[in-house]
Amino acid sequence: ASPLFEVRDLRVAFGRNGTYAEAVRGISLHVDPGEVLGIVGESGSGKSVGMLAALGLQPEGARVTGSVRFDGRELVGLPRRELRKLRGSRIAMIFQDPLSSLNPVMTVGEQIIEAVRLHNPDMSRHAAADRARDLLALVAIPQPDRRLAQYPHEFSGGMRQRVMIAMAVANDPDLLIADEPTTALDVTVQAQIMEVLAELQARLKLGLILITHDLGVLAGHADRVAVVYAGQVVEQAGVDDLFARPGHPYTRGLIASIPDMTVQNDRLFSIDGTPPALGQLPAGCAFHPRCIAAGEICRREAPSMREEGGHAAACHFAFAPSETIA
Ligand code: SF4
Ligand code: MG
Repeated sequence: ASPLFEVRDLRVAFGRNGTYAEAVRGISLHVDPGEVLGIVGESGSGKSVGMLAALGLQPEGARVTGSVRFDGRELVGLPRRELRKLRGSRIAMIFQDPLSSLNPVMTVGEQIIEAVRLHNPDMSRHAAADRARDLLALVAIPQPDRRLAQYPHEFSGGMRQRVMIAMAVANDPDLLIADEPTTALDVTVQAQIMEVLAELQARLKLGLILITHDLGVLAGHADRVAVVYAGQVVEQAGVDDLFARPGHPYTRGLIASIPDMTVQNDRLFSIDGTPPALGQLPAGCAFHPRCIAAGEICRREAPSMREEGGHAAACHFAFAPSETIA
């Protein structure tokens, strides 16, 4: 089967003083129909900027090149009007902060009905109201009739995110892009929202892209994972394979920073340093200033992607038989 969504050599550059600096430096990835792809990386890694740009939502003045195909159709260069039509119908998105995406002076019911009718202008109000009720049930919000008459501030953060998910799937999308959907929520609510998303994904056979800074979120929920650092995919693998034998030191660092997987003195491991600022890319491997495994070659030469059985990592020492780095 051909991929539902395929990104090839996507680059997003921002102009400053007549020169361009790339925030996204040639990302390639794909999502098959009904598949869950996790994209993980620190904030500023380019993971959100890249996926937003792929859907035509780049900031003003950004330069986007490469290819983004959805269901065989090229999206890069498509008129904004066409992209807008796709977003909200066949491609849906949810973000970290549901409150800022909801209208505070409209009831939740009105907003869902509006979302339903935006892409189904011929649907009657009555049918759209029925659909709104079904959608709340789909995301497990109890007492839908009472809830539909309420305003966003009467909902908890978790309930608001359920509403956003309901609105996102209102028009039966094929692809849902969720950018840090649980980051603003506390841990127990995070788990509930992930359950709702996972159940919906399975039931509606959605292609799902889960963007997160927390690799732990992806453990039970992604089929494959792409690890992004400094605007590039540095590792890509099936989720079990990624956790079992991470090939890139950055991925090993991310795994070690997952609270439940840390055994050392219950002190949370973190990767020292910060990602390079836009336009301040170090020579050689972009990760070398922070890498505990860096060798001489890393300061001179950017590693290319090494692949082994569908598992790819961009590190000079990935999958080396003599590898002893922890
Ligand atoms: Fe570290 Fe070198 Fe691998 Fe980069 S190429 S991740 S610096 S070991
Ligand atoms: Mg982000």
